[in-house]
Amino acid sequence: MWTDGLADWYERNGRHHLPWRRTTEPWPVLVSEVMLQQTSVTRVVRRWEDFLARWPDPAACAGASLDEVLRQWQGLGYPRRARALWLIAARITAQGWPADEAGLMSLPGVGRYTARALLAFTDLGMANATQAPADVNVTRIAARAAIGGEPDRQRRRDVEAALSAGRPSRMRVREYTYALFDVGALHCRATPHCDGCPLAHSCAARRHGIAPERPRAGATGYRGSFRQLRGAILAAALKQPGQGRAALRMHVAGLPATTLGRFDEAVTSLVADGLLPPTMR
Ligand code: SF4
Repeated sequence: MWTDGLADWYERNGRHHLPWRRTTEPWPVLVSEVMLQQTSVTRVVRRWEDFLARWPDPAACAGASLDEVLRQWQGLGYPRRARALWLIAARITAQGWPADEAGLMSLPGVGRYTARALLAFTDLGMANATQAPADVNVTRIAARAAIGGEPDRQRRRDVEAALSAGRPSRMRVREYTYALFDVGALHCRATPHCDGCPLAHSCAARRHGIAPERPRAGATGYRGSFRQLRGAILAAALKQPGQGRAALRMHVAGLPATTLGRFDEAVTSLVADGLLPPTMR
C-alpha cells in the first residue's frame, strides 16, 4: 500500500502540538479551518487562540457586531472569511449544527473540503467518517505517491479512490488526514523534498521521475495589488466608522497604483461582499 509506514512516522513526527488537533468540538475546528484557508499555520496559532478566547462558541460570536469580528480578523487577510464565520455563528446559534455533508455545505462559505474536515475531525461525524478531506496538499500527495503524476492532471474520483484505499486500518480518517497534512508541510510541497518522506519507498511519482508542479496562473505579489487596496480601505473604515468615500480615499491615496477607478472598484467589491455598508455604494 502506498501509505505503508505512514502511521509510525506520524506518531513520531506529526505536528501533534497544533492546538486545534487537541479538540473535537466543531466550532474551534471550524475557526481553524477557515483561518488556515489562506494563512500559514505559524500565523494562525496565536490568532486562533485570541479569537476563541473572545468568542468560545457560536453564540458568543453571533452576539458580536460584524465590525468587531472584522477588527479581530485584521492582519489575517481575505476578510470575507470573517464575515462567513460570523454568518455561520448566527445560523448555528439559531438552528444547531447540520449533521451531514450536504447540510454543512449549505453554511456560508463552506465547501466540500471544509464540510468533510468538520465531519472527519469533530464530534459531528468523526466516528463514522470514511472520506479524508482532500485539500490541495492532500490531493498533491495522493496524486504523486499513489497515482504517479501531478494533481492538475488527475480526476477527483481517482484521487478520492486512492485516498480511501490508502488509509491504514489502525488510523481513523482524522489521524490519517493529519498525517497527510504533515507530509505535505514537511516533504511533499510544490517542489518536493523526498529525502526522509515516509512515502518515498513506494511513491509512484518518485519512481517515474518528478516534474514539480507549475506555479499557479495569476499568482502575484501583494504590494500594489487589488487585495492590498481592499485591505487598506477596510482597515480605514473599521478604524473610524461612518467615514464617507472621500475620507476613505484620503487614507489610501499613498498606496501604489491607487487610481480613482481602482478605488471605486475596490469599494464596490467590499460593499458586494457585505464588508462595507450599502450606503458606501
Ligand atoms: S516521495 Fe517525494 S513526491 Fe513522493 S510523496 Fe514523498 S515528497 Fe512527495
